[in-house]
Amino acid sequence: MTLDPWFEQSLESLKDNHLFRELPASWVGADVNFCSNDYLGLSKHPEMKRVAKEAIDQFGLGSSGSRLVSGNSKAHVELEKLLADWYGKEDALFFNSGYNAGVGVISAVSGEGVIFSDQYNHASLVDGCRLSKAETVVYEHANMAHLESLLKQHSERFPQWIVSETVFSMDGDKAPLNKLVELKKKYKASLLIDEAHAVGVYGDLGRGLAEELGLFNEIDLLLGMFGKALGSFGAFAVGDKPIITWILNKARSFIFTTAVPPLIAAANVKAIELVKGMKNERLSLRKKAEVFRDFLKALDFVTEGDDSPIIPLLVGDPENTLRLSKALKEEGIWVQAIRPPTVPKGMSRLRITLSLLHQEKEYQQFFTALKKVRGETCPSWDRPMRDMPQGASPSGACPA
Ligand SMILES: *Cc1c(COP(=O)(O)O)cnc(C)c1O
Repeated sequence: MTLDPWFEQSLESLKDNHLFRELPASWVGADVNFCSNDYLGLSKHPEMKRVAKEAIDQFGLGSSGSRLVSGNSKAHVELEKLLADWYGKEDALFFNSGYNAGVGVISAVSGEGVIFSDQYNHASLVDGCRLSKAETVVYEHANMAHLESLLKQHSERFPQWIVSETVFSMDGDKAPLNKLVELKKKYKASLLIDEAHAVGVYGDLGRGLAEELGLFNEIDLLLGMFGKALGSFGAFAVGDKPIITWILNKARSFIFTTAVPPLIAAANVKAIELVKGMKNERLSLRKKAEVFRDFLKALDFVTEGDDSPIIPLLVGDPENTLRLSKALKEEGIWVQAIRPPTVPKGMSRLRITLSLLHQEKEYQQFFTALKKVRGETCPSWDRPMRDMPQGASPSGACPA
């Protein structure tokens, strides 16, 4: 058997362009982790571990089938009931992952209508649009004038869905949710929001940005994830009963997959209980994120967003981003380089995330390391990216 040369050529090309990906060995060394989504540190919480262990004894490991065949358990049903109550919505559906939820939900609810999708939406939402039979119209990131002009042009086809993340996963900035609600009402569209990075972090009870802004009643469909601030695994959709029932009937990523092990559903019930009571922790984390951004800006780095624990440090080209990431690693700081196609060309960055697991000394370690490596790796990072033409790399002049 001979290997088609296409594979090796394509891999070489990825490497030449500094876009090659490989798995990091996160368990090696004692690096401080500044790239996890475990914002509240719940993945290591003793109560979560205890509940999961007890659930194994009660339910075993595997779920034995898809939810609609033999995989449904008391733990799944209890979790969905709790989710619907927590959100004050009629119904909820638990998914195997956020990726599964985005793909399945969007392709199911959009029918042959129109989807208006933010340019920076997560790959799971993009792939949901790709699988859908609806027409997808992409609006410029958070640009509400652009969205409105597109909504005006598409008044004939239904259903119409506006789809947006609330806290964007790579920039840590927020969608203009008030304005999205205003537009969805004005043009009689429906609104689907992905609260992956907002659940646990915003809202009095940690239900996300819609809760924080008092907009719950205006949201037609809300996706939330357990794999981020909730410290576990899986995802959910909450909404009106007919919509959720439709999703249960039509979302192929829900129907044609083995149910998540019941132990995870049981742990997720505990995660919700814990997260509800962590209001002070949420506020403290967001305060730290504001201060962290101020520190970056004081060092002339360019960042985005305000108080979310996702803090981008914009570099520009992938090569320099990798170099900075490696240099920090040598100083005991683990933060991954994010490159195209995850972010647009010319927008490679370090995606720094904060967690309640960090102590003050670890923040100090981060900034000491950053100050040390910046000059050694690329002096032109001092130049602010905002002043440059779209797509230009601020570190273009950086020596190889
Ligand atoms: C992480 C993420 C997802 C996917 O969730 P998983 O449970 O990790 O599959 C979906 N949407 C957004 C915005 C995310 O950041």
